[in-house]
Amino acid sequence: MTWSMPLHDPLLFLREALRTRGVRLSIYLIIAAAIFPSSRFILLLCLGVALAVVWTRDYLRTGSRKVLYLGAAVLLLIVGYAVAWVNVTGVDELRVAKSPWGSGIDLVADGTYIGQGEGFRGPITVQVEVKDHRIIGIQTLDYPDLISVKDNEIAKFREEVLAKGRLETPPDRGMYRGAGLTLTGYINALESALSKGIPDYPRYSFFSRMFLSAFIGTAPDRVTLNSLAILFAVFLVFEYALQSMITVGTGRSISCYNCATCVGACPIKEAEGVQIPMGLVLLTRLGNYERVMELSKYCVGCGRCAAKCPIGNSGPLVISAAFLACRELMKEKALREQTETS
Ligand code: SF4
Ligand code: SF4
Repeated sequence: MTWSMPLHDPLLFLREALRTRGVRLSIYLIIAAAIFPSSRFILLLCLGVALAVVWTRDYLRTGSRKVLYLGAAVLLLIVGYAVAWVNVTGVDELRVAKSPWGSGIDLVADGTYIGQGEGFRGPITVQVEVKDHRIIGIQTLDYPDLISVKDNEIAKFREEVLAKGRLETPPDRGMYRGAGLTLTGYINALESALSKGIPDYPRYSFFSRMFLSAFIGTAPDRVTLNSLAILFAVFLVFEYALQSMITVGTGRSISCYNCATCVGACPIKEAEGVQIPMGLVLLTRLGNYERVMELSKYCVGCGRCAAKCPIGNSGPLVISAAFLACRELMKEKALREQTETS
């Protein structure tokens, strides 16, 4: 795939892109990052490590320079993070002087403000009403945490804030599981709302907000990691099905359940460390058609595997599908080279 292909032939580009496992992996990562902002740093790290391993191998084998581009991208990310960090640190220092905590409520103008904080199970959104430099109303707009934590910790803290009319550090973070994180998220939401009522409250630069939101997100928590594990399993199943759906003749490889009956029937049984033909079926399922082609020379075409496989797979079946897939790839490559030279 080349950078100019989307302009010359967008359909061919899309088809080829979807056939490439790396591109599909990137699409899955973008979907996961969009759904879970707190997973962005982990996903970025996973993508970086995976690309570094694959492209370093390509560099050693073929001299492909993709790993150098990756190095340049990592360098840009580090520089971007350093710039954002300097901005965030400076703004945080300025914010101390304009904090809405304690007597800082005197700086908050009358009005109703909305703020958000990260709780135990996700973002908590609150609406705070201020009148005559006193907090006179707090409404929780969005609250994904446990009812028990809400009833026992948040409600108590809310009453205290309303009684004092200002924000003060709670003495106790509660005894319930997740209560500390929930209360912290709730307090951060209140602080965020109140800070909106302070004129000239120091703000992070546009670049810092965009950079940190796009690449770092918030700190990953247990919920994020659990969700990512579930998503990973879903993507894996989808990926196996998709791979064989978009490649003609390889659909049956997805049904192989590794019973090895075919290996027992095959006179070859093993070649280059791969069990024949079960290994060929598994390689086809993974989309490694070149390897299937390399190993195809060991199959003598006796057809014994076809007679034994309970789902009708066979060495010759997957080998011919791999040949077709490789031929298709070669045709597309030739077409692409022709387009680029014309
Ligand atoms: S057709 Fe090929 S893979 Fe199947 S049993 Fe014969 S030699 Fe083995
Ligand atoms: S006999 Fe069929 S299902 Fe069993 S391992 Fe071989 S290809 Fe898979």
